[in-house]
Amino acid sequence: MSNSSTSSPNATFAELGVPDDLVERLNIEGITSPFPIQSATIPDALAGRDVLGRAPTGSGKTLAFGIPMVARLDKARPHKPTGLILSPTRELAEQIRRELEPLAETRKRSVHAVYGGVGFGAQLKALQRGVDMLVACPGRLLDLIDQGQVDLDQVTYAVVDEADRMADMGFLPVVKQLLDQTNKKRQTVFFSATLGKEVQVLTDRYQRNAVTHEVGEAKPDMTRMTHRFIRIDRTEKVSLAAHEVRSHGQSIVFCRTRHGSDRVARQLKKYGVKTGVIHGRRTQNQRDNALKAFVEGKTQALIATDVAARGIHVDGVDCVVHFDPPEDDKAYTHRSGRTARAGASGVVVSFVTSEDLKDTKKLQRQIGVKCEFEDPTPVAEQNHGEPIIQPNEGKGGGGQNRNRGKGGGKNKNRGAKSGGQNRNGQSRSGQGQSKGPKGKRSSGNQNKSRSRTR
Ligand code: ADP
Ligand code: MG
Repeated sequence: MSNSSTSSPNATFAELGVPDDLVERLNIEGITSPFPIQSATIPDALAGRDVLGRAPTGSGKTLAFGIPMVARLDKARPHKPTGLILSPTRELAEQIRRELEPLAETRKRSVHAVYGGVGFGAQLKALQRGVDMLVACPGRLLDLIDQGQVDLDQVTYAVVDEADRMADMGFLPVVKQLLDQTNKKRQTVFFSATLGKEVQVLTDRYQRNAVTHEVGEAKPDMTRMTHRFIRIDRTEKVSLAAHEVRSHGQSIVFCRTRHGSDRVARQLKKYGVKTGVIHGRRTQNQRDNALKAFVEGKTQALIATDVAARGIHVDGVDCVVHFDPPEDDKAYTHRSGRTARAGASGVVVSFVTSEDLKDTKKLQRQIGVKCEFEDPTPVAEQNHGEPIIQPNEGKGGGGQNRNRGKGGGKNKNRGAKSGGQNRNGQSRSGQGQSKGPKGKRSSGNQNKSRSRTR
C-alpha cells in the first residue's frame, strides 16, 4: 500500500478531474466544493486505482466513492450489474441510493438498492431491467444470487462502505463470498470510519496496490467531550443514572455484564426512563429494534455491554454513562466515543465506587483527562431541592415525580466539569460541515435531530 496525494486541498471538483456534466449536477444539488476525503480520494479513484479511505461519519464518503463510480461505469445488462456498493444496513443503502441518484441520472445510469425486510417484487423488476449501480446489503444480495437474479461477474467497480461496521456486525464472511464473485479485473474501494485488523484483511485479499487516504482523527476526540467522574455508593448508581439520562437526553449506559445490563434496564424503567438493551445474548433483531427505538427517540437510554456496543453507530448521543467501570483505557475511549460524534459534543459520566477509585485514577492518567472527582452530591440537591426521582411503584406511575422545579429538569451544574480540557479550538480536518446554496446540510454541530443509524 502506498500513499499518494496529488491534489491541492483547495482544488475544485473540476480540478480533481470530475467531468463537467457531473460537476454541473453537483452544483445543482448544492454541492460546490469537495470535502477533504473527497479531495484526497477522487483523483485516485478516477484514475482507476484501488482506494482505502478512512474518514469520520458525515465527512462525505458516499460521494467520494460515488462520483468516480458514476464517471467510470459501463451500462449493465439485465441481472448483471457493473457497479456494486455493499452497505451494512438498509437505512444506509437507501441513503446511498438517494445521494447517487442525481449523478446517475445525469449519466443515464441506474441505481437501485436491495435489502432484506421488504418484498422481492420491486427488486426483481429492477434487476430484470438492468441495474448499473447496485447498492446492496450482503444477506439479501446473497439471496438474490441464489435465486439466479444477480450475477456479479460483470462488476468492475466494487465498494464496501463502512467496512469496519460490516466487520462489527459479523458480515465479513458474506462480504468475502460476494467479492469473490465479482470480476477479477475490478477496481476495489473500501471506506471505513476506522482501520482495524479486519479491514486490513479485506485490503490484503481484495485490493491491488491500494492507495490509503486518511482524514480526520483516528480515535474519538476526547477533548470534545465533557468528562465527569462521580464518587458514588453502589446503591445510588441507578437513581443517579436515571438523573443523568433525564438531565442530558439520549444516553448510552454501559454495564459490565449482560445480566447487569438487563437488571439496570429493568430498574431504570422503574424510574420512568424508557430503555432498550443491547448485549450479546440478544438476537440481531432485538438489537436492531432496540437501536431503532433509540435512534427514533422512543427510548432515552440504551443499556449496553462493551462487545455489543461495537455495532452502535448513532449520531446524536448526548451522554455516555460508565455505569460500571470500563475494562481499560481503550474501552473507555471506545465507549465514550459513542457520543460527540460527527462534530457534536457530549457528556461522559463515570460512576466511581470506592473500590474503583485506584483504577480510575490510573485510567485518567492513561487517557490524559485530568479532572476532579465530584462528590457524591445527595441526589435531592442535584434536583434543585426537589425530592429525588422515586421509582414507580406499581404500574400507574403515580408515584413519579415529574415536577422537577424551575430548571425545567435540566441540571447541568453538578460541580466541577472537566477543567476546560474540552473544546480546545482544534480544527478538525475531514469534518466538512457546510453545504452550498441549497444548504441541505447545515452543520455537524449540535444537530441532534440528525441522529442516524450508521
Ligand atoms: P459519510 O458517509 O462520510 O458519513 P455522507 O457521504 O453521508 O458522509 O455525507 C454526509 C452529508 O454531507 C450528506 O448529506 C451529503 O450530501 C453531504 N455532502 C457530501 N459531500 C459534500 C460536499 N462536498 N459539499 C456539501 N455537502 C456534502
Ligand atoms: Mg457513509
